[in-house]
Amino acid sequence: SGAVPDAANFIEDRVREDLTLGKNGGKVHTRFPPEPNGYLHIGHAKSICLNFGLAEKFQGLCNLRFDDTNPTKEDVEYVDSIQDDVHWLGFDWQKRKFYASDYFTRLYEFAEQLIRDGKAYVCDLSAQEIKTHRGTLTEPGTESPYRGRAPEENLELFRRMRAGEFPDGSRVLRAKIDMASPNLNLRDPVLYRISHAEHHRTGKSWCIYPMYDYAHPLCDALEGITHSICTMEFEDHRPLYDWIIEAVKPGARPEQIEFARLNLSHTVMSKRKLRQLVEEGYVEGWDDPRMPTLSGLRRRGCTPEAIRDFSERIGVAKSNSMVDIAMLEHCIREDLNARAPRVMAVLKPLKVVLDNYPEDKVEWLEAENNPENPDMGSRQLPFSRVLYIEQDDFLENPPKKFFRLSPGREVRLKHAYIIRCLDVIKDEATGEVKELHCTYDPETKSGAAGSGRKVKGTLHWVSAGHAVPAEVRLYDHLFLKENPDDTGEGEDFKTNLNPNSLERLSSCRVEPGLAQARPGSHFQFLRQGYFCLDAKDTGSRGLVFNRTVPLRDTWAK
Ligand code: ATP
Ligand code: MG
Ligand code: MG
Repeated sequence: SGAVPDAANFIEDRVREDLTLGKNGGKVHTRFPPEPNGYLHIGHAKSICLNFGLAEKFQGLCNLRFDDTNPTKEDVEYVDSIQDDVHWLGFDWQKRKFYASDYFTRLYEFAEQLIRDGKAYVCDLSAQEIKTHRGTLTEPGTESPYRGRAPEENLELFRRMRAGEFPDGSRVLRAKIDMASPNLNLRDPVLYRISHAEHHRTGKSWCIYPMYDYAHPLCDALEGITHSICTMEFEDHRPLYDWIIEAVKPGARPEQIEFARLNLSHTVMSKRKLRQLVEEGYVEGWDDPRMPTLSGLRRRGCTPEAIRDFSERIGVAKSNSMVDIAMLEHCIREDLNARAPRVMAVLKPLKVVLDNYPEDKVEWLEAENNPENPDMGSRQLPFSRVLYIEQDDFLENPPKKFFRLSPGREVRLKHAYIIRCLDVIKDEATGEVKELHCTYDPETKSGAAGSGRKVKGTLHWVSAGHAVPAEVRLYDHLFLKENPDDTGEGEDFKTNLNPNSLERLSSCRVEPGLAQARPGSHFQFLRQGYFCLDAKDTGSRGLVFNRTVPLRDTWAK
């Protein structure tokens, strides 16, 4: 549809230009480099779609590379979930799965080479001293007193660092670049640090670990990456990326290209913050359907097709902006509209008795599964004397434009008959409406000859004796503010959490066919929205449905 136009993608233009110029032997090779320290979120999905998408578009390759140089924060649980999520999105790295830790030996050898070439030195300053020596944007830095160490001394010290002779934080290896550079990243950045930590893959083999800025360009080069795509924060690290490649000469010359990270309204997108929500119990886990994680979105009922479409439509830009979450919802709706079968589910049941319908009679009525797609066929729905409709579809004293049911008025029951409300039964103590007595008009069966009579409202319903119970969970934005980081003095993003982001309805009644639904499958509940059968809680708790999105499209076109 043309509702949301495809945005520009300057990276695609750049790749096309490189191919025209015959750069990199006419090849495109990208990578997606997650750090396995949390679950992927929809921001990562944008990067996945971009990197794997470029490879698909230009007959190139895309690697999955775990950026595992931070042993204390990483775990195999995350490695596994990341692989599941990339596959779920519909991309495949085939045999091209790598870990930065695969290259620890090569990276170490490159570091020795830099030391021998006089381009790196062992520095004994503390982290705090290094920071103060670094200077500021307006003040040049101060050279470390260890900067003049001879290559032989540096080599010996570096080898002893590796051998485990020194405690954490006592020494680092630094690049010897320029303490007066206007770019702070070039003021002798740290390349290696000591950390006697166990690594989830290499165990205790290493007690020194390479820094991101050192490891990343070299891993890219070793894998033959042509376009190393990352987010804008790394723009002023690019001179360092290029310096490392130039100094080490690993063979290939990958180029870093930056784009603006995705920010979505009403949610947070940093793994650190998402972890806080999980660990402090604000949500039920990384896969809570309110989370912007791919596992949360999947449980919620979002499809990979909708995410890929969304990612395409928002485009790739250089300047940071906030995308309205309603736009993601729009893409989800558009995808599910075409594929989700329509069913009837009553979330807050109100009993209706048809006084003129025979007690033991059951009729099976034909109901189309998706008016948007006749190929999806139809099903048979049971109709009987006792039904449920939605409590909200009845008002005893309706305002003028209320076209649903009220005393004396008529409505059509979808796929069935026109009914008229005759009597209202209330709880004597509370005055709450308990039950309606109605009559049906046998001449008005949907699809039959006399069905032409028109009434203003059409309601969904289920047959009381046939419907199955279900729990339905309705979700709203996780945060009240568009930008959750917009807080008062001394407050943090959690003060903006929406206290009503989850509503559980536990006495719903759904049409009987849903008892056979496959967990994870998608439905449109007529008049209510798109729902997904929860793959985790369904079973032990009966049927549990998550509302993916309501029907109404609030995205401003
Ligand atoms: P976070 O701050 O959430 O931890 P990160 O960038 O540290 O994110 P990584 O695991 O290093 O997380 O990210 C893997 C890749 O995904 C990187 O190339 C990164 O640039 C990209 N990425 C992460 N967040 C976003 C985002 N919001 N929009 C686009 N790309 C992103
Ligand atoms: Mg990162
Ligand atoms: Mg991070």
